[in-house]
Amino acid sequence: MRRLPIFLLLDVSESMAGECHRQMQQGLERLTKNLRTDPHALETVYLSVVAFAGQAKTLAPLTELAFFYPPRLPIGAGTSLGVGLTHLMQEINANVQKTTAQRKGDWRPIVYLMTDGKPTDNIEGALARWQKEFASSVTLVAIDIGKHAAIDTLRRLTDHVLHLDASDDADFRKFIDWVTQSVVAQSRSVASTGQVNLAKVDTDILTLVNNLAQANSLDEDFVILPGRCQKTQLPYLIKYEKALPNFENSNVKMSAEQYYLTGVFPLEPDYFEFSDTRCLTRTVNTAALLGAPGCPHCGNPYGFAVCRCGQIMCIKGDGPAICPSCKTQCNFSQGEGAGFDVARGRG
Ligand SMILES: [Zn+2]
Ligand SMILES: [Zn+2]
Repeated sequence: MRRLPIFLLLDVSESMAGECHRQMQQGLERLTKNLRTDPHALETVYLSVVAFAGQAKTLAPLTELAFFYPPRLPIGAGTSLGVGLTHLMQEINANVQKTTAQRKGDWRPIVYLMTDGKPTDNIEGALARWQKEFASSVTLVAIDIGKHAAIDTLRRLTDHVLHLDASDDADFRKFIDWVTQSVVAQSRSVASTGQVNLAKVDTDILTLVNNLAQANSLDEDFVILPGRCQKTQLPYLIKYEKALPNFENSNVKMSAEQYYLTGVFPLEPDYFEFSDTRCLTRTVNTAALLGAPGCPHCGNPYGFAVCRCGQIMCIKGDGPAICPSCKTQCNFSQGEGAGFDVARGRG
């Protein structure tokens, strides 16, 4: 039986933390479960999951559907699409069997790439290699799940670019069902035609992107700051969202560049393995940030104390504390007056 290799290339950058990340994790489980109910898919489909943030890794090597187990998705700093693509090309070369004079190889592989932001690395080398060595023999379906930020780049990779506009869990489940149907359609049609045959697009949630006009010049909508728990040493993310320009209430009048706290997310230690440390170069002034969270790991009431080394950490209150990054002792007292600059993640 010839195999149909399906690669999921997933963006796990910081901007995915929270809802998106949970939906993608559940989506992976739903996709596996749905596909297993289809006899054609069970016979031919092999799945692999590659994740990228600042670094890229194979979370699940190419595995027969019946034995595939959805991996836990990590979170990291950076959106190194070039690194992700390069890793994917290695995986394809190492795992997909080419047709030779002696034997028939695998069916044409399909890659589903999901990303929500502009790449933070230089992708030109990887893009050129993809065009030269892979574009004619691999189907790449790119799904932009952010605010159109990545579309201009994705269009240079493939003609199959879709924009997902999922506002809640039900929308996201519809999207996963579309991926399922596309894979099933593919597993049925490879044998007869070898053609690319994606499922019909549900226009409520998915748009086929054909022009770039709407894709360019989007603002930064989020500020994402990586912190580290003083007690457990574990990382966490503090997420702020840009305030609407004219938002106003009786207490607060917001200026254009203000962000309000939307959440704090505990992370696993592998955050550091997936992160590109060069990403922490941009800064944001804390005066633009409204609200501060507690620590999601140890429950310390202040999750937004900043060490001299620049690391954000949790503290109990005023007084001495040991920085989990540089290990020096700092003394904290309530800040007052003007804000200060802190490094900002790059999603
Ligand atoms: Zn803590
Ligand atoms: Zn420090």
